[in-house]
Amino acid sequence: MEIKHERILSQEEKERTKRQKLIQGWDQEVIKNSTVFIAGVGALGCEVGKDLALSGIGKLILCDMDRIETSNLSRQMLFYKGDEGRFKADVGAERLKLMNPFMEIEIFTIPLQQIPMDKYKECQIVIAALDNVQARMDLNKFCLKLGIPLIEAGTVGFDGHVQVIIPENAKDVSGKPLSFGNQDKIIEDLANEYLWNLDEDNEEFGEFFGAQKAIEALEQQIENIKMNNINPVLEKLKLRAKKEVETNYIKYEKYLQSTPCYRCVVPIPPPLQNQVAACTLKGVPRTREHCAIRGEVMFIKKYDRQPDYDNIEEMKETLEYAKKELDQLRARVLDENIPPEMKGKIEENELIILKKNIFETFGGEFALEDMENILGNKIPAIQSVSSIIASIQSQEATKLLFLLAGTSVGPIMNPPYLNYSGIYGLFDQIPISRSEDCVGCGSRQGQENITVVVPIDATVGELFKAIREINKKINDVNWIITNPLTKQFIFNPLFERGRTQHRKLTDFNLKNLDEVVLTTFGKEQGESEIKQFNIIVQMI
Ligand SMILES: [Zn+2]
Repeated sequence: MEIKHERILSQEEKERTKRQKLIQGWDQEVIKNSTVFIAGVGALGCEVGKDLALSGIGKLILCDMDRIETSNLSRQMLFYKGDEGRFKADVGAERLKLMNPFMEIEIFTIPLQQIPMDKYKECQIVIAALDNVQARMDLNKFCLKLGIPLIEAGTVGFDGHVQVIIPENAKDVSGKPLSFGNQDKIIEDLANEYLWNLDEDNEEFGEFFGAQKAIEALEQQIENIKMNNINPVLEKLKLRAKKEVETNYIKYEKYLQSTPCYRCVVPIPPPLQNQVAACTLKGVPRTREHCAIRGEVMFIKKYDRQPDYDNIEEMKETLEYAKKELDQLRARVLDENIPPEMKGKIEENELIILKKNIFETFGGEFALEDMENILGNKIPAIQSVSSIIASIQSQEATKLLFLLAGTSVGPIMNPPYLNYSGIYGLFDQIPISRSEDCVGCGSRQGQENITVVVPIDATVGELFKAIREINKKINDVNWIITNPLTKQFIFNPLFERGRTQHRKLTDFNLKNLDEVVLTTFGKEQGESEIKQFNIIVQMI
């Protein structure tokens, strides 16, 4: 059975959902043709409703028998002052409809136990955003019976949980069971279960128990060595460290009172995209993205300005250039894939398969929106992830407000850096540390690290030009460029011979990703906020 595309995406909906369409595997028609049941339109239900409405869901069914109270207004962001006394489901539907007028929405203000089963059957997924266990248990029962996945959640103060419940009889649109599990994991779990239940008298596994006893004995030995020989040393060193921290407290105070800064984590910023683009003009495109950028460079070459991404005609012209580049790239790759002795001798059908593979490798034909996405550096985005991340920001902000006021509801998160993977449902605490030579908070304050992109045969003058694209204030008569490793001058305006700008960087033995240092002197030294630039030179 194919998905029946009963709900058609309008042009405006396509336009709205462009960024999430960039997520690999995303199909907006799947979202448009889905219906989700949200049980409970409270703190969690409002958030989920907002996320799904914004994502372009086809239909939502909201169920909540409660009316809005003043105390809801501090958390449930679909409700405003003046809504008190109205049904949550009613007002929620109104506000969600404002966010996404293309969505169908149906509401119930009766207990979820009284809603006809047909309504549940209409849904692909049920969200439990409830405040009591009884309703959760009933919803669980309905979903198990109907084979509908249930996503249940709850929060208490600063804690929360999410549970994804897939019933055994849940089927996809073609009637097949959902496939997401990992057989290796099941085998491993089962093997471990067998292991726990092994009978010690079973001769077949005698070796296992012998080995286990040996390990225990070794572990005891390790423990003894630690206790007798390692721990005393550690204790001694701890005493020494304690004395050091206490006597030089000022030096260590900052670790108690501050965290690493942004530049400790991102010491060297990525290069400017337009510098990369300008340099690819000289090279040969190797990727789909290169072709799009080169299309833009062709446009710039012809009109001496960037194309306007909102102007359809200009984007069409850029698209044509990019298509030509992509065709040439495919032709080159095809040529590379046929050994010289096979040229002209390949069977017709083999050639067709090879061409088809190459076509798919480079992501098919360019569409107009690809231009905007690649050239505008558009990043895939979905609101549900933003909600999670923004919530953590808010959480940290809240705790900090108390700390700043001299009271506390808890410390800031430690380590102060968190990664979240929406695919695996994982939060990773990332231990970051203060960089001693940080340009933001360390010994390199007053300096700046930058990355410039220049063609492989660039001259000193072109290097200056690339630097000025990042910092317009740099006037070359007041700056000296040196190679920090060899101390060799690359540019020195104080000497007649050092003033030439037409020598190539490679004449100074500079290679791709080498570092050069830009320092200032004279009047500008007093005026410039940054006294030294540490420059990574990327050569394309
Ligand atoms: Zn720092």
